Amino acid sequence: MIREALLYEKLEGEKVRCNTCPRHCLLGEGKRGFCFTRQNQGGRLYSLIYGEVASLSINPIEKKPVFHFYPGSRWLSLGARGCNFRCPGCQNWELSHSRGGTANYLSPEELVSLAKRHDCLGISWTFNEPTIWLEYTLDGAKLAKEQGLFTNYVTNGYITEGALDAIGPYLDVYRVDIKGYSRGCYGRMAHIPDFTPILEAVKRAKEKWGMHVEIVTNLTPEYNDSEEELRGIASWICRSLGALTPWHITRFFPCFELSHLESTPLSALEKAKQIAGEEGLRYVYLGNLPAGSGENTYCHHCRQLLVKRQIFDVLEYNVKDSRCPYCNAMIPGRF
Ligand code: SF4
Repeated sequence: MIREALLYEKLEGEKVRCNTCPRHCLLGEGKRGFCFTRQNQGGRLYSLIYGEVASLSINPIEKKPVFHFYPGSRWLSLGARGCNFRCPGCQNWELSHSRGGTANYLSPEELVSLAKRHDCLGISWTFNEPTIWLEYTLDGAKLAKEQGLFTNYVTNGYITEGALDAIGPYLDVYRVDIKGYSRGCYGRMAHIPDFTPILEAVKRAKEKWGMHVEIVTNLTPEYNDSEEELRGIASWICRSLGALTPWHITRFFPCFELSHLESTPLSALEKAKQIAGEEGLRYVYLGNLPAGSGENTYCHHCRQLLVKRQIFDVLEYNVKDSRCPYCNAMIPGRF
């Protein structure tokens, strides 16, 4: 279904400028933006994917991954097609790089009713970039909040301040990638000229809108696995979001245009975790590893086991009233 875009400017000669993400695509009549999901039709900008759901499933929130927001809870996860990035190692490239293919229309009302019918705690917009789905996710998130559900963006964080401020009041969780800490790294990984809008958006999500923030870095050999990049990310998280912010460092598996690379060596993941600790981060997780090796939650104060996980299952849960039962420290997030 098509829907007029929320954030754009009408310019001379029937051109339009999209203000949804920092690419600010300038589009002549009939042209589509970089994400291929927005089109100038007669001097107006339209989203072409309103309600067009290409992937839908119910998962534990651990799968996003989000570990500090009601661990083990069920969430309805959905995504469309398209992305405002072109990452050569994208793990969801069939959806994010697709310019067509099947999708089924699901109204915001049907979406919320489906989540409630299946006893989900919330709705996650995931699989592709939710920012480019702003109009639909906004309507869905408003309804979800009215119906007592939580909401989550699984995002690359490349969003304008205007778009973030539109969805901000209706989002509870911001699960955001920080892929690197240099223009060079982001240029190679995502084809964007400047990554600082991402950092600004993450801070704003937390400070202005009070979202629960968890960070993910998919550790990709030859791309973002240098000590400089990792120290840059870790120290920025610590300085700007706080030492108790969860950081998930996940193992890369060869796919799409990076099929020629090896999977991330375990030693590189351990080294990244060590760097995170040296920079002061207290909740560092290693993901996509054999069961049980990097995804447990330990109290930041006394290091006792709080949540034991296996793949996406919670096997043991020791948090009481959001506190560590051993030392009484308040555990960050929602428990
Ligand atoms: S959302 Fe799409 S059309 Fe709009 S600026 Fe970003 S890439 Fe361009």
